[in-house]
Amino acid sequence: MTIDGYTRTCGLIGNPVEHTVSPAIHNFLAEKTGRDLAYVPFHVETGRLEDAVKGAFALNLLGVNVTVPYKSDVIPYLAEVDDLAARIGAVNTLVRLPDGFKGYNTDMPGLYRAMQSDGVRVEGEKALILGAGGAARAVAVMLADKGAGEIRILNRTLSKAEQIAEEVNAMTGKKLAAGFPLEAYRDFPKEDRYLCIQTTNVGMFPKVEDALLEDPAFYAMLHTGYDLIFNPLDTRFMQLTRRAGGRAFNGLKMLLYQGVIAYELWTGCEIPETLAQETYQNMRACF
Ligand code: NAP
Repeated sequence: MTIDGYTRTCGLIGNPVEHTVSPAIHNFLAEKTGRDLAYVPFHVETGRLEDAVKGAFALNLLGVNVTVPYKSDVIPYLAEVDDLAARIGAVNTLVRLPDGFKGYNTDMPGLYRAMQSDGVRVEGEKALILGAGGAARAVAVMLADKGAGEIRILNRTLSKAEQIAEEVNAMTGKKLAAGFPLEAYRDFPKEDRYLCIQTTNVGMFPKVEDALLEDPAFYAMLHTGYDLIFNPLDTRFMQLTRRAGGRAFNGLKMLLYQGVIAYELWTGCEIPETLAQETYQNMRACF
């Protein structure tokens, strides 16, 4: 592609952004859909987020992705926030409006689309969430929205798990979610089988030998283990899940579909599933 005066720019703001896989999504999609669009990561130093958002708008950027650590902090600098993003309390995609950016959360629709693509059902499932950070809050809202039968959030810091559970219960008006300390799984009914979503950083490169829990008895309770980590592509959590007889998936498809949905919001075009799968292969080549 030739960059000229007509080329539209989309970007990623975060810190760090140096190892991002997102250019392999958006520049590939731009090439395949014939759009004159370039996607560039921007490293934003601590304290410069407001300048970065105003600058991106002033420079006529078509759209922006937002990553760690700014997904919540960016909200005050937006002209509008989509309802789902407001409920999750985190924005990862900015779409240009006449007077500023509108914030969306495509991480959760992205995870749901990834689960559908992997044949993982949410509706009616008993679900476990490992971790209670930003991603866990979003996963809990998604599970509630999509009709999970029960949500148990296990975290090192119990108060954070309890807070997310309270928020989900207030949102749904039901006693759907509950927070637990990590080791509480030992007291869960032995006959229950869970869909487990691993949302902590434990096991991420370079500490690839780590898993939050090692006990085979925990993994025996899972029919499916879904790790949001994608580096490495096969985490220890996934290996332990498979060893106990469950199915295991990584977070690369979630990354794919959050990007596909963001690209659709920016350009108004619809990405067919065949092109999404081609993009997935392009991302895998980054590892
Ligand atoms: P976060 O807000 O910092 O939360 C991290 C969570 O991990 C907290 O609950 C923390 O427990 C727990 N934790 C971290 N280290 C731990 C340890 N050594 N032992 C026990 N618990 C530990 O992070 P986040 O934004 O939620 O992101 C979490 C993960 O999701 C990251 O790996 C990220 O790459 C992944 N993610 C993937 C995608 C994707 O597209 N695939 C999208 C978003 C996020 P405490 O509460 O006790 O501190």
